[in-house]
Amino acid sequence: MSTTNQKFITHSAEETRALGRKLAREIMPETILCLSGDLGAGKTTFTQGFLEGIGAEHPFMSPTFVIMKQYDLFAPVNGVERAYHVDAYRVESKDFETIGFSEWCEDKKGIVILEWPERVAKLLPEKRIDITFKSVSENEREIKIVSR
Ligand code: ADP
Ligand code: MG
Repeated sequence: MSTTNQKFITHSAEETRALGRKLAREIMPETILCLSGDLGAGKTTFTQGFLEGIGAEHPFMSPTFVIMKQYDLFAPVNGVERAYHVDAYRVESKDFETIGFSEWCEDKKGIVILEWPERVAKLLPEKRIDITFKSVSENEREIKIVSR
């Protein structure tokens, strides 16, 4: 069954990674994944699973200090050849355009994983997948995946 338009509760970081791997197998080119939720809610953990799932090469660095990290896939998945992991935490919308956000979104063979999408809300395409993370308890996370 497809993972989109569903709500999940995971009970460990590994379960959250597994969910990321599952979504990775369903991914199509030109998809923007928007990950939102508080610090520690599991965005990076999920992204690691997702990157594993598409066969991206380690190391999976958090892009917090580089804004964007690009992964060129050795073996394309469903026509996806590149993934752009982007962190908008420290960026203003206007700078984000200059940096090349729309070009990454328009890459016909790429997908974008965007953390802190609310920071660049004005620039988000209507067609996207919103993934929201909530801490329920120390080891439980509620993860909603909605395809817009
Ligand atoms: P974010 O990127 O949203 O700030 P991280 O993925 O970096 O969050 O951190 C999540 C933290 O919570 C990690 O230390 C992870 O081990 C822990 N954790 C505990 N339970 C879970 C779970 N069910 N899913 C994801 N992370 C979990
Ligand atoms: Mg993070």
